[in-house]
Amino acid sequence: MIGGGASICVQSMTKTKTSDVSATVKQIKSLEKAGCQLVRLAVEDMTSAQAIKQIKKETNIPLVADIHFHYQFAIEAMKNGIDKIRLNPGNIYKREQVAEIVKVAKKRKTPIRVGVNSGSVPKGNNSLVDAMVKCAQDYIKVLEGMDFYDIVISLKSSDVLENVEAYRKMARGCDYPFHLGLTATGPFDSGIIKSSLGIGILLAEGIGDTVRVSLTSDPVNEVYVAKEILQSLGLRRFKPELISCPTCGRSEVDLLKIVNTIEKKIAGMNFNCNGNRLPRIAVMGCFVNGPGEAKSSDLGVAFGKNLGLVFKKGKVIKRLPESLAVDFLIKEIEKYGR
Ligand code: SF4
Repeated sequence: MIGGGASICVQSMTKTKTSDVSATVKQIKSLEKAGCQLVRLAVEDMTSAQAIKQIKKETNIPLVADIHFHYQFAIEAMKNGIDKIRLNPGNIYKREQVAEIVKVAKKRKTPIRVGVNSGSVPKGNNSLVDAMVKCAQDYIKVLEGMDFYDIVISLKSSDVLENVEAYRKMARGCDYPFHLGLTATGPFDSGIIKSSLGIGILLAEGIGDTVRVSLTSDPVNEVYVAKEILQSLGLRRFKPELISCPTCGRSEVDLLKIVNTIEKKIAGMNFNCNGNRLPRIAVMGCFVNGPGEAKSSDLGVAFGKNLGLVFKKGKVIKRLPESLAVDFLIKEIEKYGR
């Protein structure tokens, strides 16, 4: 489900040739394992569209065909069992071609994402944001004119503010679900920041029903970043929340090493993803500001010289030497997973 009160769905896209079935299936499975709920595939030729049949047989999560220019690929993808298609209104716009796609989509109940990209909209005299919004609105009118309403919308740009403005404008007076993302964000680190802003601002305003983070990286990282964005905004919970201080001259321990150890241990734990069972854990570097934060978390530890105070629900439950305090805290975190 996308929209209509469903929880915000995490999606990604394969980076393999879709016609290479085994490589594509392998990547879809690794995305699914990371928590991805919907995977898009580039369908750039008939062979890719036909490969969907076998890919569907070997995978379990819904798949989306990404179509540009060739309406026949959309039809072939649907015939081969794709769950949703993405059309670029900037390059598939001939009415009779859209009608052919809609005819099959209706019959098979396949949703269509109207996926506007800033790089392929007819601009005319409009600003780029207005051109993107108009392009989506016009396309939706065409689909509605064909009695088709199973629609998701995206308006992607590589510029954070342009992206935010386009979605905001579109969201006024529009009730269709939104797929959020930026077209291209750049290298890994800046990509994470741009995505967090471009997607996070909109989510914080209540706009967005599914999220795709685009990174020049392993697509599994896109899933992790999308989940971090959703969890940071309190929209979904996937894992315990680990907070730690930046450390300063007051700290007497190697907090970075301690936090890395705890983070790795948490990553290896199996948590029941019921939000109530996922603790907030504070790891703090000193006794000056540490106890306050540790007390206000489900679990926490604050370190002094060779000493760790372990907190649970606001109370000190152990005073232990540093390394024992870390082990004790890890055991307490594990109890939450049971
Ligand atoms: Fe510094 Fe202590 Fe604050 Fe950490 S908790 S940043 S060590 S004052």
